[in-house]
Formats: sequence, structure tokens, C-alpha cells
Amino acid sequence: MSYMKSLKCRECGKEYPKEALHVCELCFGPLEVNYEYDKIKEVLTRNIIEKRPTNMWRYKELLPLDNDPSVGGQVGFTPLVRAHNLAKALGVKELYVKNDAVNFPTLSFKDRVVSVAISRARELGFKIVACASTGNLANSVAANAAACGMETYVFIPYDLEQTKIMGTLIYGATVVGIKGTYDEVNRLCSEIAGKYGWAFVNINIRPYYAEGSKTFGYEIAEQLGWKLPKHIIVPMAGGSLITKISKAFKEFQKLGFVKETPTRIYGAQAAGCSPIVNAVKEGTELIRPVRPNTIAKSLAIGNPADGYYSAKVIRESGGWAENVTDEEIISAMKLLAETEGIFAETAGGVTLGVTKKLIEQGRIPKDESIVVSVTGNGLKTQEALYGKLNEVTVINSKLSEFDDLVKANGKQYALKG
Ligand SMILES: *Cc1c(COP(=O)(O)O)cnc(C)c1O
Ligand SMILES: [Zn+2]
Repeated sequence: MSYMKSLKCRECGKEYPKEALHVCELCFGPLEVNYEYDKIKEVLTRNIIEKRPTNMWRYKELLPLDNDPSVGGQVGFTPLVRAHNLAKALGVKELYVKNDAVNFPTLSFKDRVVSVAISRARELGFKIVACASTGNLANSVAANAAACGMETYVFIPYDLEQTKIMGTLIYGATVVGIKGTYDEVNRLCSEIAGKYGWAFVNINIRPYYAEGSKTFGYEIAEQLGWKLPKHIIVPMAGGSLITKISKAFKEFQKLGFVKETPTRIYGAQAAGCSPIVNAVKEGTELIRPVRPNTIAKSLAIGNPADGYYSAKVIRESGGWAENVTDEEIISAMKLLAETEGIFAETAGGVTLGVTKKLIEQGRIPKDESIVVSVTGNGLKTQEALYGKLNEVTVINSKLSEFDDLVKANGKQYALKG
């Protein structure tokens, strides 16, 4: 049973059939999935959700498939960690980390959007699945397509992190490295989608794909005991995730699952690629594209597809946007690891670095609930840390050499016997 009614233009409201369409032919506005909320309200309760298996499909009535998912059945329901040590380090009272660094199967939040997109692409009869990616999407499309036996083409900027490239090739996908930025990759992919008619998850399947991100927000609300946080900080690349977290919170209010309490939403980008942050700070609706230069490659989109809507969501929620330098990204990655034992990728460093900055600026108060969105795993962006951590201390396997080392460290330990 599906509660997806149609696709609908975000600008002029024109409705379209539930096919592989993504732009309005009248006004070129983006299309979005439109649900029958009245019917959902009749069949879905918090109690029913709580009894279901712990994955993102426990909210299936609010996801855009006609049938059950054909791939990615185990994705989601990642931990929401109460981060006491990190809270202390930042001087705040109630802090949580939503940890999609351990999402199944490819350790980033992209598994959420991809399981929806590929399942929908199969419902629509596509045989070949493809994407334009900054890295994590490549991993997830390749893995999930392999799991359901689809042929896969993945397009990336050729100079991505080795681990992200390896973590795509392993699944047998055809990987095409483009000599250019993500924005150039994306433009080429639009042409290829038009000519070859494949399912590009983040281009012609984008309205369905983007809905998968809502589950990140649903889970936070449920894991907080059916409450919305007062503040949430979200990393932005194309700007889709942040708009869908906002949509998720609004839907839960509309369905009566949470009280109508406002959440301030904050956007995070790297200083080397912050077109959305710039727009928020300048108070303009216009997103000026930039040429990215940052270690946070997963967020390096210079011309974000949902930039305009992200800035709007941030502004309307009463939130703000900030950016951090590469150096600040690395210290934030270390801070998260050393306080909470969570190894996030560079994007996580961006989000935590921005959180720290906003608290220091007094924009986020110290006594209200705060959620930091960690969206990817640090094992995939190790290059960023080369030469930035302590070295391994190498000795021969002799007790005397270890004794010398302890002495050199100047520490005192109680000895046995
Ligand atoms: C893709 C990605 C994002 C942001 O995605 P958008 O929806 O394009 O803004 C955030 N974090 C990580 C790790 C990502 O891979
Ligand atoms: Zn329109």
C-alpha cells in the first residue's frame, strides 16, 4: 500500500505522475513527492512504528515506494549517542551525536537515499543505475546495486580519496573519473541521463532519492523519546539533507507524533566551499557558485542543487550557517574521536567544528538540546590525517626499551613485585 500521491512542483504546485521526472516543465522548479497525509494519519501511530524492526523502513508509509524495498532493507536506525564528554568539552548541557558513520552497508548517510532511489528505479523498470558523486554516494550506489544485481556506472571527480575509489571498485561498478570538479561531473551526467535513459539516482530519480534523508530526522525524533531537539547542525553539500530533516520534523508535527516545538536548523560547510553559508550570511536568496578547495571532499559541491531551499530552511527556522577551515576540520575530528570514541570523516569535522564555533559565538545557547549530525566514517578519508596525528613509537621487543620509553614519557606507574 502506497501513500505517495504524485510528484509536485515546489514552485508552482503543478502535479505530475510518479515517474522518473525531476523538473517542472512550466517553471523549471524542482519536483517533490506529495503524500496523502490524511490517510497516513489514519493508519500509522507511534506505537505501530515502535513495534517494527529497527531500520529506516519502520517509517515506510512516509517513503516513496509502491511496494516494499527491494534493496537496503537493513539500512538506518543508527545510534543517537548522548555525548557527555563532548558536551563538557564544549561547555553545554545536553548534546547528542546522530552517528551515521556506522550506517549499513557503506558507512554513510547516503545508504538511506540510495536504498530508496534504487528500489524506486526498479519499480519504474530501469535496468542500469548510475550517479554523480563526491564519494559516499559512489560507495553506496555500487554496493546496493551489486546486492540487487544491477549494472552500475559511477561518475566521480578523478582526484577523490583512494578509500572512496576503492570502496566503489570493489563492488564491480564501472567507475569513471572525470578531470574536473563535481559540478562538471554533474553537468556531464545530466547529458548522459538524457541520452542513455539510465536511472541516475541523484538526477532523474532525485525526488525519490531525497526523501530517504527524512529518515535521519524521524529517527532523531523517535530516539529522543518522540521529541524534537531545540538545535540541529547539519553538513551541506548539495543541500538536500538539511531540507529533508526539516521536512521530517514538520511531517511528524503534522501527524501528531511530536509536539509542535520549533527546532533551529544550522548549516555547516568547509571554508573552501561554502556557497550556501555565504548566502545565509549575506542575507541573499542568490547562491553564487564557487570553485571548491577543501579536504572535505564529500561536501565539495560549488553549485548546490538545493542551495536556495537550504538557505530558506535555515533562515525560516531561526538558525544560522557557518564554515570552518581545513585545520579546524581536523581538530574537530580529533575532538570527537578523543571525547566520544567516534571516528567521523572530514564532513563530521566540518559539522562539529561549526557547532563549536556557533556555541562560542553565543548563537547556540548552552542549556538547550543540541544534535550534531555525523554523516560519514573517518576510515574513508584517512588522507586528510596524514602527518596530523602522533607517530607510532617503534621499539625492539625488549622490556628495557619499554622501560626507557616510560621514563622518557615522565609518567609514574605502580609496579608489581
Ligand atoms: C552527501 C553528503 C552530505 C550532504 O549531502 P547533501 O544532501 O547533498 O547536502 C553530508 N555528509 C556526507 C558525509 C555526505 O556524503
Ligand atoms: Zn512549476
